[in-house]
Amino acid sequence: MRLKITNFIFFIALCVGAVNDINAAPIITPIQVAPNTFYVQGGAELGSTDNQNYISNAGFVIGKECVVVIDSLGSPVLSKQLISEIQKKTEKPIAFVILTHYHADHIYGLQSFSDLGAKVIAQELGREYLTSDTAAQRLIASRAELAPWVNDKTRLVSADIWINKDQTVSLCGLSFELRQVGPAHTPDDLAIYVPSEKVLFAGDLVFKGRIPYVGTADSQGWINSLKKLSSFDSKVIVPGHGAFSDQPQQDLIFTRDYLIFLRQAMKQAAIELEDFDQVYEKTDWSTYQNVPLFKAANRMNAYNVYLSIQNE
Ligand SMILES: [Zn+2]
Repeated sequence: MRLKITNFIFFIALCVGAVNDINAAPIITPIQVAPNTFYVQGGAELGSTDNQNYISNAGFVIGKECVVVIDSLGSPVLSKQLISEIQKKTEKPIAFVILTHYHADHIYGLQSFSDLGAKVIAQELGREYLTSDTAAQRLIASRAELAPWVNDKTRLVSADIWINKDQTVSLCGLSFELRQVGPAHTPDDLAIYVPSEKVLFAGDLVFKGRIPYVGTADSQGWINSLKKLSSFDSKVIVPGHGAFSDQPQQDLIFTRDYLIFLRQAMKQAAIELEDFDQVYEKTDWSTYQNVPLFKAANRMNAYNVYLSIQNE
């Protein structure tokens, strides 16, 4: 009987342990998109204590000698899980993390990689974000909103290598084409193309099957950058959020046409200082109104474009 009680206690301990494990990190499952390329896909929701800020994607490419990671997820607990998933696939060290842009949901996991000795590569204008009040205030707010996953130990990590022009670099024995595509979603947008894998990491410049999040983006700069991205012979696009695309040109065109539509709808009104609400109501949104996240994002996107055109 004593043995049975011991077993029972052991069983309960296992269950509690399992629950804690689930709470400690959501299941991160790498999805293979090319022979040596994988990504993990965050949920289509806002960051919260429940989802540990798992709302963005990260990718990794297993090179000849080491591993290159693209973006670092939204909290250190997530990046630690990503590291253990990478280590299940390869014993090669993680040597580099390339950032598509310095936004909280893509960078709060950086410290786990730099603690391992990985070098961080980012576009130079990311320095401005790092030292800005916006970044400092955001971190303070995130420590409250995303506790305990983002906490007092979560820190902003500066890049080791800053990129200030388009260039092709050899990392871990593979070629990586780095392209400056900002200002678009952010001033420091960087796209990464891996020609041997035909995979393009587009950051938050391409959205598949959903209304993009425009935020304070430079919409005209964004449209121009999409042209640059369509010049790659990509078979796959891994975006900053949501599912990967195996129809790169189609998804690039969808994002581009949406931005062009927004600008056309808002331009005249913005220049002539017409009332935003009236213009919004009389615009025919039928092309986009059934696309996912239309209700959540479209009005705010239109308003941001309306304001930004006034500042152009
Ligand atoms: Zn993002």
